[in-house]
Amino acid sequence: MKEETKLIQSILSDPLTGAISTPIYQTSTYVQEAPGIHKGFDYTRTNNPTRKILEHLITDLEYGYASLAFSSGLASIDAVIKLLKYGDEIIAVDDIYGGTFRLLNLYKKLGINTKFVDTTNTEKSTSLVSNNTKLVWLETPTNPTLKISDIKSISKKSKKINPKVLIVVDNTFASPAIQNPIKLGADIIIHSATKYLAGHSDVLAGLITVKDPKLYEKLKYIQNATGGVLSPIDCWLTIRGSQTLYLRVKKQSENAFKIASFLDKKKDSCIDKVYYPGLSYHKNHSIALKQQRYFGGIVSFSLKNDTIESSKKIVTSTKIFKLAESLGGTKSLICHPSTMTHKSTPLEIRINAGIQDSLIRLSLGIENIEDLIDDIDQALK
Ligand SMILES: *Cc1c(COP(=O)(O)O)cnc(C)c1O
Repeated sequence: MKEETKLIQSILSDPLTGAISTPIYQTSTYVQEAPGIHKGFDYTRTNNPTRKILEHLITDLEYGYASLAFSSGLASIDAVIKLLKYGDEIIAVDDIYGGTFRLLNLYKKLGINTKFVDTTNTEKSTSLVSNNTKLVWLETPTNPTLKISDIKSISKKSKKINPKVLIVVDNTFASPAIQNPIKLGADIIIHSATKYLAGHSDVLAGLITVKDPKLYEKLKYIQNATGGVLSPIDCWLTIRGSQTLYLRVKKQSENAFKIASFLDKKKDSCIDKVYYPGLSYHKNHSIALKQQRYFGGIVSFSLKNDTIESSKKIVTSTKIFKLAESLGGTKSLICHPSTMTHKSTPLEIRINAGIQDSLIRLSLGIENIEDLIDDIDQALK
């Protein structure tokens, strides 16, 4: 089956009633026939039929063995880090999602250290792998300058040095419609399903998909022991939203490509840099071509007049693009990373990551591209 068919087929109809839309099993517990004799469900923290459908769906989409649904992307990331113990080490992409950075900082005081490196450089990143390395943590594309790392070569080279190392890919920015990291050698995939998967800016959700049964058992134990599960109604919203994933991501990527090309033409006037993996001069364009089905729905750009004031004027002048954090929804959003998503990042790290004062990030929605271009054009003017 092709991916689009598989996505729809993966959402099983209800075995009890035949309901084609997944029922929301809004229950905490289940009646048992005799102690321990039940229909496979005993308590919703451990198992819930609506959650099971969602976990089955993402497993199919990501070519995994099994999946787990959490109450947020960060809750799922936290569960993965709990696989580690005192003295273990993580190697992570240097412009990692801010919330993950904050979480890794918390774990530092428990003796789990992270080394940050520019993972677009495979040699440099894998040279850090040692016997203590338990996780190599990738995000590709990254936020907001859309750096792309080569999942396949990093996985292969890291495992050659330490066969026990687990490759984790936070696949939030790409979504399964664009790339499938397990097929490229990853062991664990993370999704903040809050973004592209649920896709309508109406739910917080996190998903873990794993390749290996033993790893699944460990993470299932951690999830049940810590309890950050996704509620039945939020599972339903995520299942409901996911059904149009391929349609949305295709349209969002087309819109992003056209906006990036429009901004690129404005480089002789007000625009300084445009970041989009689909542009031939993007520094990771060739790996994006090889690794991704589309170039994605996010575009960032900076201004020749590189000030916070000038970019604030733009982000408050758009009418269709709404000023908000987050991404991946049907509505186009605009955001100013240096005063919003990255305001707590130290200045030097922020500038090193390419996040100039004037950098603006767009998350393209599914609106008509002519209206979107007109909106950005009038705001630039
Ligand atoms: C949003 C995001 C997260 C965190 O997910 P939440 O659902 O907000 O907890 C993690 N990684 C990336 C890349 C994200 O964009």
